[in-house]
Amino acid sequence: MKDSKRRLAIIGCPYDENSSFMRGAAEAPPLIRAALFSDAGNLWSESGIDLGAETLIADAGDLPPVPASAMNAEIERGIADLLGRGLHPIALGGDHSITFPAVKAVAGKYPGLTVLQFDAHPDLYEEFEGNPFSHACPFARIMERGLARRLVQAGVRSITRHHREQAKRYGVEIIEMKDWRDKLPDLDSPLYISFDLDALDPAFAPGVVHREPGGLSVRQAITAIQSLRGNVVAADIVELNPRLDPANLTGGVAAKLLKEIAAKMVQAGS
Ligand code: MN
Ligand code: MN
Repeated sequence: MKDSKRRLAIIGCPYDENSSFMRGAAEAPPLIRAALFSDAGNLWSESGIDLGAETLIADAGDLPPVPASAMNAEIERGIADLLGRGLHPIALGGDHSITFPAVKAVAGKYPGLTVLQFDAHPDLYEEFEGNPFSHACPFARIMERGLARRLVQAGVRSITRHHREQAKRYGVEIIEMKDWRDKLPDLDSPLYISFDLDALDPAFAPGVVHREPGGLSVRQAITAIQSLRGNVVAADIVELNPRLDPANLTGGVAAKLLKEIAAKMVQAGS
């Protein structure tokens, strides 16, 4: 294994003002953290990495409450701060709008990013209800600024005509759920993973606002993550809405995915 000393940091981005339909995702970070560190489980990944060993994962806490107009700058600053300290960030949403400033910070250190987005939706709206920073828009913001060399979307099953036009305009590769074959294309490094929990079938992850039936199983998502070969430098897990999550089921799923993504990051392209 190469670079086994790589260290990660979890950082909560408790913001949901850019959610178009319903608030609540801002309450998610402490619940994902609680599920991750719960004594009901352990910090071993399926791939055999003990994330609890040698403080591989630091907890950078949550970003402070700020006015909506200052959120993007706060997220970018928080992520850039971790990167500056040599830590590889995993941002916990919050809604999906946090991904634009997070990717902006990561692209500052790692130009030529490939972004792998798990999502039921492309989130490529040029603007949504007058808000260019809506959680329906982050990947349009990322692509128009050239922050990602390549954007690959998986699990998508709710696409409008506008989305298709935007995907064409920005050269986005959408792997639609109807075409899912349990295998992702080879992805280049450095790699950023953005995981919107509504990529999963709501049967597995009901705690999301925009439930879209017919999605990935938790197993399919984990298999896809484990099969990645690239150098995963940063990630986010977004759109958990605790108000819609019976028995914190989806919080547990988020923690499970976090462990598998973190294990990939620790392994640093090995
Ligand atoms: Mn979504
Ligand atoms: Mn999304």
